[in-house]
Amino acid sequence: MEVSSSISEGALRLSVFFGIFLVMALLELAMPRRTPNRVKSRRWLTNLAIAGIGAAVIRLMALLAVPIAAVAAAAWAQSEGWGVFNQLDWPGWVEILLAVILLDLAIYGQHVASHKIPVLWRLHKVHHTDVDFDVTTAVRFHPVEIALSMLWKIVVVVALGASPWAVVLFEVILNGCAMFNHANFALPLWLDRIVRVILVTPDMHRVHHSIHRFEHDTNFGFNLSVWDRLFNTYTDQPRDGHVKMVIGQKNHLNDSPTRLGWSLRLPFLPSQRSDEDQN
Ligand SMILES: [Zn+2]
Ligand SMILES: [Zn+2]
Repeated sequence: MEVSSSISEGALRLSVFFGIFLVMALLELAMPRRTPNRVKSRRWLTNLAIAGIGAAVIRLMALLAVPIAAVAAAAWAQSEGWGVFNQLDWPGWVEILLAVILLDLAIYGQHVASHKIPVLWRLHKVHHTDVDFDVTTAVRFHPVEIALSMLWKIVVVVALGASPWAVVLFEVILNGCAMFNHANFALPLWLDRIVRVILVTPDMHRVHHSIHRFEHDTNFGFNLSVWDRLFNTYTDQPRDGHVKMVIGQKNHLNDSPTRLGWSLRLPFLPSQRSDEDQN
């Protein structure tokens, strides 16, 4: 079935996004894990505005060049017979499962690169300067990072020959998992232990938002927790504890990250990475 031009695909993505967002926001109100450092209103407006601009950039890219969206790229690869899975005759569900797992590995790799390569870190740092950690942090990615991320996904999708439905499924899961593992709600510890065997939990990903570099350079996974264990980048718990640990980046523990203009300009401001290296 043609997915790239389907209205239901967009409706599915939007309803899953708003549904999970609402559930996470309510859980944060009902059973918060930490007391927020800042009032929510301005942070939320800024984070959601950054997400809106990112979504608009992707739409613009799609308008300028039709196949420039991961799903369209998948449909194109399929029609041209490109990519590994389009050469194989494996059952559809096996290819979809493998594509979703391998796309997750690709995003893990991209995330590691975003921390190690200075120019990528400049963009990705916008995500890490959030001074609190909640469901809106999940969508706080600089629009240029969103665009680069889409290009990387297209390369992987075409190389794999992932089907359009595998890509839709992956993107919906990635979106949902990101909102879940950034949510500031107290998942019972026993449940965290069980879920963490497979998926990245809020307690696991919160370590990745620590002010300490030895912690924020670990737990890179977004969906599956296996990659961090496999590649030895796993930190079980934060040194200072979940309630006391400081979230954000040294030099930016102020109100600046709650401002939209500052957040968008940050990648182009003079770098202060050398200071952070001391953490
Ligand atoms: Zn990161
Ligand atoms: Zn994060």
